[in-house]
Amino acid sequence: MVRFTVLASGSKGNSSIVTHCPDSTDPREGNADNCTRILVDAGLSCRELFRRMRLVGEDPATLDAILITHEHQDHINGLAVTARKLGIPVYFTEATHRAWVRQMTPQRRITYAEWAAQYRKQREKDDARAQFESRIAVSPDLSGPHPGPDHAPLPDPDPDPAPEPDPVPVPDPNPVGIHASSSVSCSPDIDPEAKAELAAETRANPARLPADLPYVQYFRPGEPFHIGDISVSPFTIPHDAADPVGFVFTAEGVRLAVATDLGYMPPNVQAQLRRCDLIMLESNHDLEMLRDGPYPWSVKQRVLSRVGHLSNAATAHFLEDTYDGAATYLILAHLSESNNHPELARIAAEHALVSKPSLLANRLYLAAQHEPLAPVHF
Ligand SMILES: [Zn+2]
Ligand SMILES: [Zn+2]
Repeated sequence: MVRFTVLASGSKGNSSIVTHCPDSTDPREGNADNCTRILVDAGLSCRELFRRMRLVGEDPATLDAILITHEHQDHINGLAVTARKLGIPVYFTEATHRAWVRQMTPQRRITYAEWAAQYRKQREKDDARAQFESRIAVSPDLSGPHPGPDHAPLPDPDPDPAPEPDPVPVPDPNPVGIHASSSVSCSPDIDPEAKAELAAETRANPARLPADLPYVQYFRPGEPFHIGDISVSPFTIPHDAADPVGFVFTAEGVRLAVATDLGYMPPNVQAQLRRCDLIMLESNHDLEMLRDGPYPWSVKQRVLSRVGHLSNAATAHFLEDTYDGAATYLILAHLSESNNHPELARIAAEHALVSKPSLLANRLYLAAQHEPLAPVHF
């Protein structure tokens, strides 16, 4: 049995689960030990992820791994807390992991006045040290035995000197100050519940670094690997992140593709989406709603760019022109709440699929932001 469940999809949080249980084992009826369960992105708070998993009959404690597409906030909101709570590995590309660690490392910039005060203090200490050393140099009483080339260093007049003045950002122990992704084409805002969870965790364990994970595993786009008995094939997507990827999952000969957060549909992505049984594909915005909508012009340009998001029209164009029509299920995903309406996305896709007549294929679903989609079984 292969099962795909969208827990959430949209600019406020993205998460899905790929489950494989051999021999048609029903994971809800015990005997679930042989199953493999992969959480794809952790874009909701840990608490909300667990709540939605239970709603769809998945036990969070049985998750085997978390797989991350890219470091934008709507894909990693609950990552740290969830991975630590479950003690399971997180799979990233190395560049995405680095970007995430930077994002999770709290920073603050000191003001010029603070820097100048630190600098003054350091100069005073340096001057005091220089005076001390010059006194030793002229007084044989203080210099002790005649110093040879290997003599011990002079005593430090100040064993705890002030830190070097440093105008670069310095760590701030307050995890609430963790800065969000600089991207604006996905949500730059940390989910408030996820932020509160991180802060509570840090209060309980102040020594732990925010980006500590139980186990990190790197993968590379174009190089398939296995998690349990699910084959994972990551592929590069064009998006404004460090090293964003989509995935094709294969188990029992069933192919499931996840391709959201991409500015356009390059040939490598088109190739990955062939012969799939399920495709979760972005249908982010309606072009006119985006044009007339509330975003600043700079953000509109970025969403529309080749590293932004697929519009309903771009997705429809792919479905009409390039798509092989083979998928049993098509899930439209990452719909913008500000610049799209589910009916507009549905109409565009349905219209495009008219040219792909099939009684069994192309059942169209829309993934939602605020509730899970009913699980799809194979
Ligand atoms: Zn993104
Ligand atoms: Zn996103």
